[in-house]
Amino acid sequence: MKCYNCSYEDSRDFNFCPQCGYPSRYIKCERCGNLNKVTAKFCSNCGVPLPTIIKIVRENEA
Ligand SMILES: [Zn+2]
Ligand SMILES: [Zn+2]
Repeated sequence: MKCYNCSYEDSRDFNFCPQCGYPSRYIKCERCGNLNKVTAKFCSNCGVPLPTIIKIVRENEA
């Protein structure tokens, strides 16, 4: 499968990208806890923007 964030590819399935830590199936909304598809830009439940996960990844890289 392929990571939506960094395009890392692995023949095995993973829940979180081994390279950048991005979730491969769902993004959890930090405001309401709703699980959204990784391709979603806004929470389908409360409408909050979802790029917060990218910020977390960048912090981990540093
Ligand atoms: Zn990745
Ligand atoms: Zn939400």
